[in-house]
Amino acid sequence: MNADEAAGPIIAVDGPAGAGKSTVARRVADALGFLYLDTGAMYRALALKALATGADLRDEEALVRLLQETDLVLTAEPGGQVRVWMDGQDVTDELRRPAVNAAVSQVAGFGRVREEMVRRQRGLARGGRIVVDGRDIGTNVFPQAPFKFFLTASLETRARRRQQDLARMGYHVDTATLAEEIRHRDALDAARPYGPLRQAPDAVVIDTTDMEVDAVVAEILRVYRQRA
Ligand code: C5P
Repeated sequence: MNADEAAGPIIAVDGPAGAGKSTVARRVADALGFLYLDTGAMYRALALKALATGADLRDEEALVRLLQETDLVLTAEPGGQVRVWMDGQDVTDELRRPAVNAAVSQVAGFGRVREEMVRRQRGLARGGRIVVDGRDIGTNVFPQAPFKFFLTASLETRARRRQQDLARMGYHVDTATLAEEIRHRDALDAARPYGPLRQAPDAVVIDTTDMEVDAVVAEILRVYRQRA
């Protein structure tokens, strides 16, 4: 399926780690009354399960098998907060753990893992009227999406934002460590042959370094309304 076959518009939001995609995408979806799909959460859930079951993170076959037998459901709470259910269990709060951050790009690097994830993502977005965030949404998952945005920010800003997110969850990590982790993850995400982190040529680029969330949301809504 591509966006042309979806019943309503798809808004793709891509960009590197910590650029504010999920907060912004959720708020845009809320403002438009659209669904929100956090594709990073899907890869994170698989990484979490791989870690929990002791699967070999280098074994593509084993990871694909694990994914095939994994039930993933994303639900929205009032206010737009997404909860992720894996095999019937709410794993939302575990997905941002440092161990998952460290493992997720390796798991997401395998072509067959991505194939299955993309298949599920296209199914979930079938009805359209959805904001989808990730790394390869505008380039690979929905290359025909009529609305594409690519969010960036300086590495320092992204590390600081990640630090604040983690602090709210009770993890205290210094910004230098986080900057290195983000830089490493971006490098892996950009270098992989399947669905790399890449800006679609027709994406609107927004550098969020010096922008508040409200301003980024307003800019996306402005572009959307202008073109819709
Ligand atoms: O967006 P988030 O930081 O939660 O994504 C976590 C990881 O999941 C990324 O670093 C990337 O390795 C992977 N990912 C991906 N493709 C997507 C979304 C996320 O490979 N569409």
